[in-house]
Amino acid sequence: MILMINKNYNSIKTIFVDLDNTLYEKEKGLLTEVSRRIDLFISNRFKGMKNIEKYRKNLFYKYGTTLKGLTIEEDVDPEEYFKFVNDINIEDFLERDEELINVLGGIEQEKIIFTNSPREYALNVLKVLGVEKFFSNIVDIRYLDFIPKPNEGAFKKLFEQGIKPEESMILDDYEHNLKPAKGLGMTTVLVGNNKSNNQPYIDYCIKDIKDIKEIKKIL
Ligand SMILES: [Mg+2]
Repeated sequence: MILMINKNYNSIKTIFVDLDNTLYEKEKGLLTEVSRRIDLFISNRFKGMKNIEKYRKNLFYKYGTTLKGLTIEEDVDPEEYFKFVNDINIEDFLERDEELINVLGGIEQEKIIFTNSPREYALNVLKVLGVEKFFSNIVDIRYLDFIPKPNEGAFKKLFEQGIKPEESMILDDYEHNLKPAKGLGMTTVLVGNNKSNNQPYIDYCIKDIKDIKEIKKIL
């Protein structure tokens, strides 16, 4: 169920949790719908654009998120973008998750959402899953000054208010987000994949966020 790669004996006080494909499984399809709406936003704005996928990939590799690229290269208003791409009925994809509620309820450490999405979308997801009360805060893309994970600047923002990296854990489904986290001294957990992963910046791999209780026994 859990694969422990690097031993870690730090005492964890704060757990930063990614939202999409971490708090719920990738198979739910919500992020695919967000992605479909990003394509739609681009195709509405740049009528006649042929290879949207390639264009998005370019922006993603160059800037970390499609939005960052669109604001820099095309002067897109982030608020207009969020309003359009996150205009989704979350209930069509997710539902109340009693098991997740139980698992999060059993973890006494402070839990904070850390996402490249905007706050109102994150809050909707948390409400539908039934877990909003377990999170003391949402660190969203606006709070990050639109500097997304995996930029180191996004991670440094987490520690401006007294939380220490060496007393923090991060859960994320995107491997590249764990590298800067480890660099700062955080304990790192890759979610959604419990296969062997030899990357030195990954401390634990779990298949599902609900397996965090197994890590808890170790800490
Ligand atoms: Mg994610």
